[in-house]
Amino acid sequence: MAHINAHYNKLAAGYLFPEIARRTEIFLEKHPGTRVRKLGIGNTTEPLTPAVIKGLKAGVDKLASPETYTGYGDEQGNKLLRERLALYYTERGVSLSSEDFFISDGAKSDSGNIQSIFSSDSIAAFQDPAYPVYVDSNVIAGRSSGFNKDKEEYNNFVYMPCTKENNFIPEVPDQKVDLIYLCSPNNPTGAVATHDQLKSFVDYARKHKAVLIFDAAYAEYISDPALPKTIYEIDGAKECAIEINSLSKFAGFTGVRLGWSIVPGDLIIEGTTPGEVRKLWNRRQSTFFNGASNIVQEGALAVFSKEGLQESKNLVQYYMENAQTIREGVESVGMQAFGGINAPYIWLEIPSGLTSWEFFDKLLLETGVIGTPGSGFGPAGEGYFRLSAFGHHKDIKAAVESIKNNLRL
Ligand SMILES: *Cc1c(COP(=O)(O)O)cnc(C)c1O
Repeated sequence: MAHINAHYNKLAAGYLFPEIARRTEIFLEKHPGTRVRKLGIGNTTEPLTPAVIKGLKAGVDKLASPETYTGYGDEQGNKLLRERLALYYTERGVSLSSEDFFISDGAKSDSGNIQSIFSSDSIAAFQDPAYPVYVDSNVIAGRSSGFNKDKEEYNNFVYMPCTKENNFIPEVPDQKVDLIYLCSPNNPTGAVATHDQLKSFVDYARKHKAVLIFDAAYAEYISDPALPKTIYEIDGAKECAIEINSLSKFAGFTGVRLGWSIVPGDLIIEGTTPGEVRKLWNRRQSTFFNGASNIVQEGALAVFSKEGLQESKNLVQYYMENAQTIREGVESVGMQAFGGINAPYIWLEIPSGLTSWEFFDKLLLETGVIGTPGSGFGPAGEGYFRLSAFGHHKDIKAAVESIKNNLRL
């Protein structure tokens, strides 16, 4: 008799984005013809840049002739791409080998899958609020006995609250944990960890032989040169950190799909020698995954060409202009906004004691703007609200105008 993986039953019901869609639908039924403006989901809206289109087309053309055709590629991904990535990190003062890189179809799958190479009794710690896949993948793997409705927390997990008091970057756990998920610049708060803050996590991880799982999906949104763009800028990080990144938010690859993980050969955990953890991730990936599309890997190489990098930086700049528009707009109506400076998310403190979902309904009703309730990212997100800077300039401007003219605070 087959049974389902019962850990799935532990997942707290009502996933965020379906619930947003449901409420929006009800709103539109009641108010037909209303123009809703979406500042909710973090999805890119601008076209791929010319250099990338050229690279993708070249990738297609290669498949058209027997001389250049390729089937399955290198296990860890196109060697040229891995070498180019290693060079990109070298340019930031970080030395990594192309063997440390694993090309994938995106950062979401890697951040969900990475936990599978660690012991099932590992204690995992998470920023709260956080991108949901870190917590959910550990629930599905059986590391929690269930969801505690009163605390709005999963049992057995260590939550690291990100609050106004700590500028939304948490302290290291005050107990011993094994896996620590960090995301900087952070989704949803837009906060970026400083060098010193990351150093405290690296020191903690080395002391306790814990592993940092560092999601750098928004690294290219950092404009402040003092802020670290990769965990490996911190001394000692190669011994304790895995970094996950992708071209989704940097180069508009949300639909194209291309990411990478870095598992340094130097990484060591309890009972392993250097290289063993990297080998394990290779084993996991080569068992369950047959590589990113060869066409897409050509497109990724084009992102890292001179033109591609410039165009991608312009793309980031485009979204960051939206972030500024949103930040200035909400501040002009007297709301307190965080993030949006080195990240494409603006994290609003909700005034007048409303819950995140109450504010969602109010904002939609009064302004037609759809955002994301902070509580959907974890208990410490309650009372906050995320606005996303991904959108066309004119749509973002219209949404902000509507907030300025119609929101009654
Ligand atoms: C968007 C996002 C990603 C990127 O996921 P892909 O699968 O590469 O599209 C990763 N982490 C965070 C926190 C994100 O917001």
